[in-house]
Amino acid sequence: MPEPIIRIDNIVKRYGPLTVLDGLSMEVMPGEKLALIGPSGSGKTTILRILMTLETISDGFIQVDGEQLYHVKKNGQLVPADERHLHKMREKIGMVFQHFNLFPHKCVLDNVTLAPILTKGMPRAAAEKRAMELLDMVGLADKAKSMPAQLSGGQKQRVAIARALALSPKIMLFDEVTSALDPELVEEVLNVMRKLAAETDMTMLLVTHEMGFAHDFADRVLFFDRGKIVEEGKPEDIFRHPKQERTQTFLRKII
Ligand code: ADP
Repeated sequence: MPEPIIRIDNIVKRYGPLTVLDGLSMEVMPGEKLALIGPSGSGKTTILRILMTLETISDGFIQVDGEQLYHVKKNGQLVPADERHLHKMREKIGMVFQHFNLFPHKCVLDNVTLAPILTKGMPRAAAEKRAMELLDMVGLADKAKSMPAQLSGGQKQRVAIARALALSPKIMLFDEVTSALDPELVEEVLNVMRKLAAETDMTMLLVTHEMGFAHDFADRVLFFDRGKIVEEGKPEDIFRHPKQERTQTFLRKII
């Protein structure tokens, strides 16, 4: 049996007096495609941001790819990790955001090559070769020299996916990547993600309100409410035969 690539153990996340996650535990197996669904404010995005080290945790432990994410071992004890450790761990994970977050003053190609060149010290020629392969994969090789402002929302999001892939992460996090798009642009982004899911063995966590896509994409669906996993299972079980009343109510409203 392989080890989980992500092991979240009893984590607590507070923002001031607000406890968003209160003792959450979950595991993700290598290559698994997971969809996190549930009402707004239930903590789904917070989980992705914690994994990306964009937020810290108030308590608990997280293991990623066999190593502690927020801790290092010192004299046999686990102590909070320094920035260098976080930096190393961050390279295992790529994230795509709702609002693209492309660098507006850099062309598409530079957006994709910047991190590999700056953080991994990859030679420019190698970074550009890889970037062109990734842009080709998302159907945007002809836009390499365009500026973000010249692209549609769907194209920007596909560049953001290529950029996240450029560091060859083992884990990809997608945070409501189609919610800011006009409806006619959603499908082109979902198609890229379908292709990624089918053609790579990357572990993927997806926060989404697109229930149809979650159903097709995910091996496992987790339904969150108020910072807790209320129900989890195979997509067909969660979407067709939800057991918990809260899941049933949520799905009745959204579908
Ligand atoms: P979801 O992704 O399920 O919609 P979030 O993880 O975005 O939920 O948010 C969970 C809760 O945490 C919400 O109540 C939200 O208002 C709160 N929250 C998120 N980020 C912050 C922040 N930076 N400061 C204070 N509260 C926050």
